[in-house]
Amino acid sequence: MTRLANLAGRAVLVTRQGGVDVEIASDGLFAADAQSLYDRWDEFLAWASSAEPGVTGYFEMHAGELLSPAPYPRQVFGIGLNYKDHAAETGMPFPERLAVFTKFPTCITGGFTEVLLPEGHVDWEVELVVVMARRTHQVAEWEAWRHVAGVTVGLDLSERILQRAAGGQFSLGKSYPGFGPMGPHLVTPDELTDADDLALSCSVNGVVMQSSRTSEMVFSVPRLIEELSAVVPLLPGDVIFTGTPAGVGWVREPPQFLVPGDVVEATIEGIGTIRNRMITS
Ligand code: ZN
Repeated sequence: MTRLANLAGRAVLVTRQGGVDVEIASDGLFAADAQSLYDRWDEFLAWASSAEPGVTGYFEMHAGELLSPAPYPRQVFGIGLNYKDHAAETGMPFPERLAVFTKFPTCITGGFTEVLLPEGHVDWEVELVVVMARRTHQVAEWEAWRHVAGVTVGLDLSERILQRAAGGQFSLGKSYPGFGPMGPHLVTPDELTDADDLALSCSVNGVVMQSSRTSEMVFSVPRLIEELSAVVPLLPGDVIFTGTPAGVGWVREPPQFLVPGDVVEATIEGIGTIRNRMITS
């Protein structure tokens, strides 16, 4: 039962009484770098379950300082057309095989940062994001959740023109700096009543654009892990953006894209809310 945050570059346990600095409270057993914790995840969880605040005590946390709980994963997977309603709204056929792309890891940012909009048509996609707990290769669906460190809220920001260029290679159009906001916390699956059925939603300037449940996925989280790990060994701290439900901007009549000043808010039940503001240079 753990919630982990990355507060201005320091790993912090999120408790009811406040934040607990991981490096200080563990007397240096664990480093301040949140990404390094996934390499020793079981050991970290065992420590976290009985962690005391230590000399610095509990402290108040400010959302604006929260960075990604997995700030520099080695691999970041994205899944296309993974919600029934989203596949339908795009007019594309229901996928029989997994549609996989990468978001290059330098696109990862916190859930409260400003995102510099590049030229083009930038769109929102709220997604459940999975962070892996250990090296995972050829793991079956039934045991897949045991390989997950936790889940968090993500935005798979996408520039649609580049995404469709060059035969629809997707990855570049989804990888501008700031195109992978994640946060506010990493939540271990046992904290959630049903990790396979969570309400998720996205609003732009307060107007709800997307609202669905993760149980509407075509390929569930365990199934995604089985399919991905059948080919690629997933590494500790790797990140999977699990796909987005209906309500993205480019399928609207007329199409709607993000402009400087827009505030995108993404929420998932049991995890929390992130809020990123779009800016111009
Ligand atoms: Zn997506």
